Amino acid sequence: MTAAPVVSVRGLRVYYGTLRGTVRAVDGVSLDIGAGEVLGLVGESGCGKSTLGRGILGLLPDGAASKGDVIYGGRNLVGMSEKDLRRLRGPDLGLIFQEPMTRLDPLMRIEDQFQETLEQHEPGLSAREVRKRSLETLGRMGIPPTRFRQYPHEFSGGMRQRIMIALALVLRPKLLIADEPTTSLDVIVEAQILRILADLRRNFDTALLLITHNLGIVAEACDRVAVMYAGKIVEEGLAGDVFAEPAHPYTRELLRSTISLDTKELHSIPGAPPNLITPPPGCRFHPRCPDAMAVCPTKEPVEQHLAHERRVFCWLRGPEQAIPAGGTSPLEREEIAVAEEA
Ligand code: SF4
Repeated sequence: MTAAPVVSVRGLRVYYGTLRGTVRAVDGVSLDIGAGEVLGLVGESGCGKSTLGRGILGLLPDGAASKGDVIYGGRNLVGMSEKDLRRLRGPDLGLIFQEPMTRLDPLMRIEDQFQETLEQHEPGLSAREVRKRSLETLGRMGIPPTRFRQYPHEFSGGMRQRIMIALALVLRPKLLIADEPTTSLDVIVEAQILRILADLRRNFDTALLLITHNLGIVAEACDRVAVMYAGKIVEEGLAGDVFAEPAHPYTRELLRSTISLDTKELHSIPGAPPNLITPPPGCRFHPRCPDAMAVCPTKEPVEQHLAHERRVFCWLRGPEQAIPAGGTSPLEREEIAVAEEA
């Protein structure tokens, strides 16, 4: 990351109390996002991506508790009062939800929803400016001015999603968290939205956390990528570097599971992400990892820094280069195979 961070997350934990025990949905996550930077957050469903996004903004449901630091504008959002958080949400911190109808008021015309949002956060704007800014933002989303006075139920699902995104963007937030913003949309609208998000960061220096399971979107739209597994970040780096040469076995398996034009045989990672009430000891990926070694179930991997601001949590890259009793490590086996081929 070259720019100064807009947000710095350090050791963030988000736990939920349930009847069956405590769910450790986010378990010690640290990351930075700079001004005008797009960080992609990827991983399978149930790995804690959405909870991390909401945890950063302090938007957690009842029964959830967070610990750690989320530093924004010199202040820690963790432990901040709801009143102060509300003041920041909108003009500073924006969230695009997965489900459009949770954000749009079904009883209000689109025009009134934009007016209310802008008046609440930018009371100095004239009625003319409010209308101009609203129509401009909607126009970029492909919603014509003729539909400005309609109600949410008069739009298709895809259009509602675009209106909801426009509502988040109209305030030009400094930090925007977009949680699967294009999931229900066709590829044309998806491309349009990705272009708009790119414009936003170019024109307003917005820091964007893009949560998605679609690695194609990350390759196209993100500067860096963080890979999340079982409540933890397992690898982070420049998107091009991570995709070209994944350092963590989970990243490698995720990439192998992606369908592309070159796909000849469908691959899926055996098993499923673990229950986060009782996650596996040591490396949480070890029950599914094809490279697991003796050390993996017993010791949690420590952070290793590779070139180009890349970091990874895996014993394959660890200082100890964990070697199974009486054998060679997978990394050594790889090196031997390369030497033999040469
Ligand atoms: Fe696999 Fe071990 Fe690395 Fe975990 S630490 S990803 S189990 S090799």
